[in-house]
Amino acid sequence: MAKPLIVCRDLSIIYNQGKSNEFKALQGVNTDIFEGEYIILFGASGSGKSTLMYSIQGSLPPGEGTLLIKGDDIYSYPPSERVYFQRYVMGIIFQSFNLIGSLSVLDNVALPMIFCDADRTTRERRAQSLLDRFGVGHVSHKIPAMLSGGQQQRVSVARSMVNDPKILLADEPTGNLDSVSTQQVMDKIDEINTFDRRTIIMVSHNAAHLSYAHRVYYLKDGFIVREVVNPQRKQIKPVKEGETIVTELEQLARLFPYDSVETLRVKSLVNYLTQDFSFDQIIRLERATGMFIQGKVDRDAYIKSLVLPLERGGVEVDTKEARRMASVTESLINNADDIRRYRARKDNNSIFFSQHKLAERISEHLSQKYNIKLNKEQNTNITELIADRVTGVIEDDDLNQRLMKGVKSGGLGLSEKEADDITRYFEKVIAQGVDVSYKN
Ligand code: ADP
Ligand code: MG
Repeated sequence: MAKPLIVCRDLSIIYNQGKSNEFKALQGVNTDIFEGEYIILFGASGSGKSTLMYSIQGSLPPGEGTLLIKGDDIYSYPPSERVYFQRYVMGIIFQSFNLIGSLSVLDNVALPMIFCDADRTTRERRAQSLLDRFGVGHVSHKIPAMLSGGQQQRVSVARSMVNDPKILLADEPTGNLDSVSTQQVMDKIDEINTFDRRTIIMVSHNAAHLSYAHRVYYLKDGFIVREVVNPQRKQIKPVKEGETIVTELEQLARLFPYDSVETLRVKSLVNYLTQDFSFDQIIRLERATGMFIQGKVDRDAYIKSLVLPLERGGVEVDTKEARRMASVTESLINNADDIRRYRARKDNNSIFFSQHKLAERISEHLSQKYNIKLNKEQNTNITELIADRVTGVIEDDDLNQRLMKGVKSGGLGLSEKEADDITRYFEKVIAQGVDVSYKN
């Protein structure tokens, strides 16, 4: 079995060690990162993401514990070897670009090659071809200040790749960019991972980026509190047996980490039982199924509520169908302990989901039901809202409130009725199942 490329064992990083303002920014951190992986370090500001990244980069020696890259302790290297390592093994991209303002774009990219044997023409040719590849070849003779933020960041992506590093580090590379530039930069970094097969370690606090990664380390107050595997990407790190997701309930548990086991069961059952049901029917079926699962109504009453016409609060299916549903539900109630098993096995939240697909569905619903067409800003906001809701950053009440907020403050500017409807619709869409397709 392949050995991990980067290993942290009980790693602690201490700032101002021995002084009165000593501060432990990382504590007892353990990671195994394999060659070719795309890893995201995720967490709130101040949680230690950058500290971990710069420690891997060779700039912050461990206070305690060990950090090995390809089995080597890079901090034991003599200075010249450490510099070699930082120059040729690691590439780095910063949030603030860090381009040299007085040099042309081409010279900025060619600069890190100055210490290799290549002559000037060779260096410039390579720099130009990387700039072409990242879509900024036509501005190579300008100075950085004449470029947009997105262009400058693509220049720094080119610069980070110029010495053909094995590992690319990126500290919030899209933190200063608009959504279009963000997408371009994320796509380029994705390409460096999937096409060039470079290992990527990216720092981010944007939930929308998580689906790019193979795995995510969640940091909080200097600890890694969780490691989450992206079910949508084929894993490089060997997955332990029993750790793969096998059932729909397990998938739902990942999609809705904050929901109770009962709620997830209802969602799963309703998804199983329905195909062409209307919004109202699904809501009612969920309610009835919830009562049945909790033992508040018996089988006969459940069937009755399914058969009842819509205008009398029922689901309006025929008796035969209602009986079938009751049988399926009953048998699943009796033997579906998937979620509990899953949660017991791995205290894990999932954060990977088809965010854009969900946003599209909600947008369609709004245009059909209320004749509201979402503009670009609203679309961006709803996509972000979905990310926050699905990762558990906000509760359904918060979602509801934010839907009513103005577009400038991150909302959709909906009326109370529309917001209530969308909040419920969102749950319904999830109940129907989000298409989680595997990416190779
Ligand atoms: P993140 O990247 O997740 O926002 P950082 O790794 O930058 O977090 O910082 C983690 C903690 O360490 C923060 O509380 C920060 O104030 C502290 N810290 C970062 N750099 C230094 C430093 N050079 N000296 C002292 N404390 C620092
Ligand atoms: Mg940081």
